[in-house]
Formats: sequence, C-alpha cells, structure tokens
Amino acid sequence: MTSGAASGAPARDLMEKVVNLAKRRGLIFPSAEIYGGFRSTYDYGPLGVNMLRNVKDAWWRSMVVMRDDVVGIDAAILSPAAVWAASGHLENFTDPLVDCRNCHERWRADKIEGVCPNCGSTDFTEPRSFNLMFKTHAGPVESEGTVAYLRPETAQGMFTNFANVLTTTRKKPPFGIAQVGKSFRNEITPQNFVFRTREFEQMEMEYFVPPAEAAKWFDYWVETRVAWFLDLGMPEHLLRVRRHEPDELSHYSSQTVDLEFLFPWGWDELEGIANRGDFDLQAHARASGERLEYFEQSTGERYVPHVIEPALGATRAMMAFLLASYDEDEVAGESRTVLHLDWRLAPIQVAVLPLSRKEELDGLSRQVLGMLQPHYMCDFDTTQSIGRRYRRQDEVGTPWCVTIDFDSLVDRAVTVRDRDTTEQVRVPIDGLLAELASRRGA
Ligand code: ATP
Repeated sequence: MTSGAASGAPARDLMEKVVNLAKRRGLIFPSAEIYGGFRSTYDYGPLGVNMLRNVKDAWWRSMVVMRDDVVGIDAAILSPAAVWAASGHLENFTDPLVDCRNCHERWRADKIEGVCPNCGSTDFTEPRSFNLMFKTHAGPVESEGTVAYLRPETAQGMFTNFANVLTTTRKKPPFGIAQVGKSFRNEITPQNFVFRTREFEQMEMEYFVPPAEAAKWFDYWVETRVAWFLDLGMPEHLLRVRRHEPDELSHYSSQTVDLEFLFPWGWDELEGIANRGDFDLQAHARASGERLEYFEQSTGERYVPHVIEPALGATRAMMAFLLASYDEDEVAGESRTVLHLDWRLAPIQVAVLPLSRKEELDGLSRQVLGMLQPHYMCDFDTTQSIGRRYRRQDEVGTPWCVTIDFDSLVDRAVTVRDRDTTEQVRVPIDGLLAELASRRGA
C-alpha cells in the first residue's frame, strides 16, 4: 500500500507523516522547543541542514555554475529604509488583516474566504493594511534616522548592486544576478509547517534583458524552472504552471506565473516567475540619483533593462521535495517508509554499514568510508541489525548502502544496496566509486 505523493494525489495524512518523520529523524525541529517553542519558526537538524544545503546547491549549480550569463552575490540582510521606500515595500508590502469579532483571532483576509478557520464566524472587522516587514534600529539610538529593516526578499540586493555588478563583471544583457539567503516576513498567519514561516530562505535571480526581449525570456525562464524540478525527480503530475489573471498582477508586473505544487491541502505556490519590466531599476535610479542603465558602446545605445525574476523559497522547495518523495511500501512482507529522493538532494548519499561491530571489520570499513567521503555525504552506522539499519536509511532517502562483511576482508568486495529496488550486488572495493558514479548516471 502506498500513501505517499509519489504514486498519485497526496494522501490526507501525508503532511502529518512528513512532519513527524522530519522531527523524529532530525530533519526539521520546531524552534526553541525547550522553551515551549516559538510559533512557526523551525530549526534544521543534522539531516535537514544537509538536505536544505543540497536544494540550494542544486539551484546554484543550475542557475550560476552551469551558465556564463548569470553571476551570484550575497547581499546584506539588514538594510536602510531608503531601499524599501524606493522599492515600494514601505507602502505596498502589506497584507489585509482582519479580526474575527467572535473569537478575536487575526487572519489574512485574502486567505480565509470570509469564514473564520478557528470558530466558523463570518463576522470580521474591516480589513486594514499590515506591513509585513520586520523593523528594527541599527545602533544604540532609536530614532527615525536609525530605522532598518530585515529584508523581506533577496531581490532588492540585485537591483541596488546592478551598477556594481555591471562594471565589475563586464556582463551585458541578457544576464542575471542570483542570490540565495534568508528573508523575513512578519506573516499574519504562518502555517503549514515550513510552507509559510516568518524566517525563511529564498533563491532568487534577476535576469536583465533588452526591453524588446522580455516576453521571450519570460517564457524561457518558466520552461527552465519547470525543467529544474523535473530533473530533480519531482513527478510531473504534482506540478503545474498557473498564469496570473490581469487583476491578480502586482502593480509592477506585466506577466506572472505561479509554479504550483500539489500540497496536501491543494495546489499552492511553490515558485513565482514575474516579468517586472523596468520598475525596479527605474525606482532605484529615481530615488538614489544613480544611473541604473546599460550603455552599449558599439551602438551608443542606452537603455534600462527589463527584468525577469524566478523567485523560489528554498525551505518551501525542500518541503515539496519531502512530500513528493514520501512513500510507504512493502519489502519482504514488512512495511517500510522510504523517501525516493534524487541522490543530489538526499541528506545522506551513501551509508557505510559494517555488518558487525567486531573490531576486524573496523579498519576496512573506515578505509571504504574515507574513500567515499570526498565524493558523497556519508553516514557510518554500526548499531542494530543490518535490516533495521537499511530501514533507517530508506526512511531518510539514502540512495545507496554499502555493507562490509567478513568476506570483504578476503575478497576485497562490498555489497551495494539500492534504496528503490532494494537489490544488492557485490562490487570490488576498487570499483566502488565507478559503480556509484554509473548508478547516478555520471
Ligand atoms: P504569498 O502571496 O503566498 O504570501 P508571495 O507571492 O508574496 O507569497 P513571493 O514574494 O513571490 O511570494 O516569494 C517568492 C517565493 O518565496 C515564494 O514562491 C515562496 O516559495 C517563497 N516564500 C515567500 N514567502 C514565504 C514564507 N513566508 N515562508 C516560506 N517561503 C516563502
């Protein structure tokens, strides 16, 4: 029996199972739990930090490393009010907040369809605008002049550094600036595990293009971003592209799509891809007095590039990959939980498992471990029966287990077990790296 999203529409209890697994196996813990928790903030544990890093690395690899038209930056999280005044966030980065007159819970009006999710009442206060930015003060004096904000998106770092990047890299449109990092939003109702939290990580890229080419590049990025998910093993039936209706578009955007994932509660946004026109560069140029444009020396042409932005939450993407890969099946009459994660995302890629704890196996086992560690994130586990250890690795998505037994001392071969098929083959230690490389299609 299968209850995971891997084989159809997500089961209703999938969310609970994934949240439990995440906690039990050290992927994602509720934050500050020893103090009773801090609502809707999460800490990534020993396995979670690996997986989150893998999600970010996979994104960085495809968006920056494998391209010659995109460069990366890492901008400051703390920023002055001037940035957010120019970008429009001080005025417009708001959600409509309503209070339920019956139970006094507060909700985001556009997310509850007129009914209080807590008590069922339909009696609400008039919506008022609530700015989602976290405001603080830089330095010891709290005055109007020291107001600073935690960035609610990484994108503005790319716009404010546009001229710096142009002059230091000699890139010319079409080219992109990418960034991965933390963003903060004082969400009215953070919910659904790490889907919507107040502190999260984003992976964003601003692609600057000649204005006439914007529509073409928008289509290109929608296609490219869908392909990224599919390449990492996301099943096609759990993804869809939803075009924003004209009345849904932000004031700066002429085209937007949401790349949606079939979450246990239904289709919801995974990634946004927007054609932002020249809104951002014009706004910062106006407010700062700097020229934020591209000058083509060969033709003498000067223009403000238009921007295509794919924006994805790293933490939200990790959650989608967990949900999509979760499965329960039966192996030799026993039920098991398994994450069918692509090897690039798996928190542990190879588990090295000496069959016995006896000292004779230790030397060779550690030799095998040492050979694999430069290439793969490895685990080394000598506890419990081998069957139990395989199950523990399946449950966190480890694609390959390498078992060292007493014969290994004689034949210098080990057993490689595949997570998805559970098939085991004997492989010479000297050929182990080549065997694993061929299994990942290298
Ligand atoms: P929403 O309307 O759902 O609040 P948004 O459309 O404002 O979200 P964007 O500003 O487009 O979201 O953010 C880009 C991406 O960043 C989203 O697609 C999502 O993956 C991620 N993201 C945004 N807000 C959060 C959050 N509070 N927690 C986790 N991820 C988030």
